[in-house]
Amino acid sequence: MKAAVVRGFGEPLVIEERPDLEPGPGQVRIRVEASGLCHTDIHAAHGDWPVRPNPPFVPGHEGVGVVDELGEGVTRLAVGQRVAVPWLGKACGRCEHCLTGWETLCESQVNTGYGCDGGYAEKMLAWADFAQPVPDGVNPFDAAPLTCAGVTTYKALKVAGVRPAQLVAVSGVGGLGHLAVQYAKIAGATVAAIDVTDDKLELARELGADILIDARKDDVGEVLRQHGGAHAALALAVNPAAFEAVNAGLRRGGKLVMVALPAHGTVQVPIFGTVLNGTSVIGSIVGTRQDLAEVFQLHAAGRTKVIYETRPLAAVNASIDEVLRGQVKARIVFDLGTGG
Ligand SMILES: [Zn+2]
Ligand SMILES: [Zn+2]
Repeated sequence: MKAAVVRGFGEPLVIEERPDLEPGPGQVRIRVEASGLCHTDIHAAHGDWPVRPNPPFVPGHEGVGVVDELGEGVTRLAVGQRVAVPWLGKACGRCEHCLTGWETLCESQVNTGYGCDGGYAEKMLAWADFAQPVPDGVNPFDAAPLTCAGVTTYKALKVAGVRPAQLVAVSGVGGLGHLAVQYAKIAGATVAAIDVTDDKLELARELGADILIDARKDDVGEVLRQHGGAHAALALAVNPAAFEAVNAGLRRGGKLVMVALPAHGTVQVPIFGTVLNGTSVIGSIVGTRQDLAEVFQLHAAGRTKVIYETRPLAAVNASIDEVLRGQVKARIVFDLGTGG
């Protein structure tokens, strides 16, 4: 099977022919059909973050495909079943976080495409308890971006406790943002979408955003305050200045939810305004298995639309460049069926 492999940080990925892996106890092997390119994969390949993966490794945590072999003891999944393999590859199931519905904070978790090989491959292994069944009628190319971009923004809105009639600011309309706009609308909120390209603002409008803010020329905080201020702001743009801009647009009691992970950066939070206005700054990382099940359920019900463009896996390095240059409207999904 072919896999795109990170051999060294910052080096182009190498397409390698590898032997098929045998699933261990509790694991399944998956014939990958579609695999999304998340910005996190680029940070992994560059070794950008304090905790680094160990090359050689295969990135990708939006892999979707069909189970083709069961490891010992697996009864939850069946051969032929379509599943998605998210960032949360495995958690311990026993710690305080796992036991209180916060398995995404488990300190013993293994992350797909980071701590173990991921979805940039024709075949991959996954822990059966954490591979998420994809409902019938959801195509693998839609399912791939939902597996990280979808669940991450869906969870961020839950963390913010968004309710109908609230104003939600979505800062950054890309792979994550285009889904965040839709989830905020489903929650009943009024949505202000913020970006720096006409294409992405137009996309946000098509997907239901009520207020468009062009951060190239508008004062983001000022525009949001003119609308009464945001009850919740999701920081999805990989730019610390964008976090500060949207924080300045919170209403009293509003919540800034940090989601994007710039390689470096610190955000200045004004003490005076935070204390007097009672605002919160919260971090939110991906979502649980239950969150992902809900994301798939909403999509199967026809309530969300996933915007993506496909590429062969052989185009992995050019695709990463496209993302870094901001040329991708929403999401690139590798098509593992094209022989690339
Ligand atoms: Zn991701
Ligand atoms: Zn745990």
